[in-house]
Parts: sequence; structure tokens; C-alpha cells
Amino acid sequence: MNYIKFAGPIIDESMAEAVKQQLLSHWLTSGPQVQAFEKALSAYHGGRPTRVFTSATAAMEVAFHICGIGAAGGGGASDEVITSAMTFFSVGNMIEKVGAKTVFVDCDLKTRNIDLDQVERAITANTRAIVPTHFSGLPCEMDRLYAIAQKHKLRVIEDAALAIGSSWKSAKIGAFGDIATFSFHPNKNMTTIEGGAAMFASEAEAKRAEALRFHGISRLPDGTRDVAVAGGKFNMSDVSARLGLEQLRHLDAWNVHRRTLVQHYFATLKPLAASLHLDLPAPAWPGEDDGHSWNMFCILLPLQRLSITRKQFMDMMHAQNIGIGVSYEAMHLTTLFRGKGHREGEFPNAERIARETVTLPLHAGMSIADVDRACATVAEVLRPHLRKAA
Ligand SMILES: *Cc1c(COP(=O)(O)O)cnc(C)c1O
Repeated sequence: MNYIKFAGPIIDESMAEAVKQQLLSHWLTSGPQVQAFEKALSAYHGGRPTRVFTSATAAMEVAFHICGIGAAGGGGASDEVITSAMTFFSVGNMIEKVGAKTVFVDCDLKTRNIDLDQVERAITANTRAIVPTHFSGLPCEMDRLYAIAQKHKLRVIEDAALAIGSSWKSAKIGAFGDIATFSFHPNKNMTTIEGGAAMFASEAEAKRAEALRFHGISRLPDGTRDVAVAGGKFNMSDVSARLGLEQLRHLDAWNVHRRTLVQHYFATLKPLAASLHLDLPAPAWPGEDDGHSWNMFCILLPLQRLSITRKQFMDMMHAQNIGIGVSYEAMHLTTLFRGKGHREGEFPNAERIARETVTLPLHAGMSIADVDRACATVAEVLRPHLRKAA
């Protein structure tokens, strides 16, 4: 039986050929393909100012610099950035790396998106930005999010790493709002091998990002170069950009296929969920277009009723040739943030998800039969290990 990986890209012959042509051309690092890819991404997002980077993590670091968040201005209290405890490590890492303070709030148990009631309560005089993650591609409540940001004059840096192709009320995530950062890691809905992008609030901000991603260099009229800001080295190669251009052409069709696979997951697992005590992701039934680009299909295991651990479940699935992921650990319980005083019990939803979640296989290269096999294997693996409720 073939191995069903839990995530992964589609690379076909024509994409490989395009990359080969790029390798054989004289442009390897950033050049015309980067410009063309940025133009295409911008067009996909309603013409917004767009720049590409080596990763979403790099894009977010640059975004914080653009917003002037971090480096203590005037020796006052440090800038505070509010984010969810249920997100990928890169968010907390970049907030800390730029010298700001991470203020965690909990997520909603069902959508896994940031709890906006808690965001409002966490705002202080030092709050500078909100960083919400569109979990697995399901947009946050954008109207409410931006109402809060506007009321308190906060920047929003949307962690849209999982949300390329997602939309809110028919507008693409990244096509409106403040800053949005995307990832093209191979596990996302399209790939440039490694890579990321950001949509900025203005062309002026995008121009500043261009310098920040390449040593802070600006060109002088006499043909020499100057550095006015200490920039990093986050520029995408033309080889990656060429792959990105090919991938972007297929994105919408792939996302339609993901939706079909997800509908089959729901149709198959819904009748089993009660007897297996599984928690399925939101929305419970994706009938109409809810703007979800479905990067991941995450369920919660009934660990209280199981005589096996999550690790044993994952190993057993793996032994049946089915890949399983975990997204995510609770960010506030990492050694980094425990060192800053965080403890168990602060964010019950994020902590429960971190304990119980598993990601079932979902990618555009899968078939309906693969979904059937994954679901049947989940049931086979869980059933013998379910205890009666205590
Ligand atoms: C993948 C991911 C990132 C980081 O993306 P990179 O391109 O690998 O830096 C950030 N946030 C979330 C939610 C992600 O899933």
C-alpha cells in the first residue's frame, strides 16, 4: 500500500522543466522572475503592494521592522504584540526577536482562531499590533478584528501562512486589511520550496521592505551603494520564483480539490465521530463557500477515553502507511516562554488542542480513495483502544 503523506506539494513535469530552464539561464538569484512572481501575486490579491521573501518567518520579521515595532524607542516600556497561544513558533519567535513582548491570548476551541474578546481585554497603552493566524486557512472574523485594530490604532500583521487562496466575504485574504504574510513551504497550498510573501499597506512600505530584505542597500547616483538601515538577507531566488509562478496558476484548482477531499472527510467521519468520540474541525459542514482554503484537516482525539497515547496512535497510523501531523504545540509552554513565566492552565483551549490534536492527510495530490483509507484506518486504530466513559 502506498504511503499517504499528511501534507505535500504537486510538482509536475512542466514545473520541473520550467525550473530546469531557469537553472540553465543566467539568472539564479533575485531577478526578473522575482519581479514577475510579485506582479502575479499582487494581481491575485487585488493589486496590493507585494514583495516576496525567503520564508513567511522572514516576511514577518520585516513587517515588524516596517511597523517600527520592537527596538525600544525612547527607553520606555517594550512594545506589546498580541497573538494566540495556538500558532506556529515563528510568530512568538519573531515578536521576541525584534525586541517586543509577546502577549498571548487563547484561541477558540472549534475554529482554533484567536479569541477576539480576549484580544480586546489584553490591549494596554503599550500594545502596538495584533498578529492573528488564519488557522489551517480559515479566516479570522475580519470585520471585528479590524474594528478592534482601528479603535485602538493598532497595526495588524495577519499570519496568513496557511491561507493562500482563502477569502473573507469573497475578498482574498491579503487583498484588504493591513499587512498579511504568506508561506510557500512545501506543506502549504502552493510552494516555492522555501519562500514567503507579504502584502503591505502601501507601496512606500513595500519599498522599505525591499531594502530590509537585502542588506538595507540603496543605490546612489554615482553607481555605488549605501546602507541606511541594518537590513537582513531574505531575498527569494529566481529559481524559486519561477516555480512559484507555475504553482500559482494551479492554486485555485488545487484549493477546489482540497474542498472536495474535506467534504468527503466530513461525510465519512461525521457518522463515526459520535462512537469514536472525535472532535471534527469547524465548520461542521462546509456546504457553501466559507473562504476556507483547507491547508489542514485537524481533529481532536478523545485521549481521556483512549488506552493509547497520541504518540502511539500516530505510530500505529504510520505503520499503516498513513502520515499524521501535529499542529501545533502551545507556544506559551515552550522552554522559551516558560522562561518568561508562562505556565499550564493559562490558555485551556490552546493547551487542550496541543495535547489532543492530530492532522489527517490532506493535500491536492490525494484522491477520494485516499481519504476513505485514512478514515477507515483512524477507526480501525482507535476502536480496540476505546474505554467506556469513566
Ligand atoms: C508555516 C507557517 C509559518 C512559517 O512559514 P515559513 O515560510 O516556514 O517561515 C508561520 N505560521 C504558520 C501558521 C505556519 O503554518
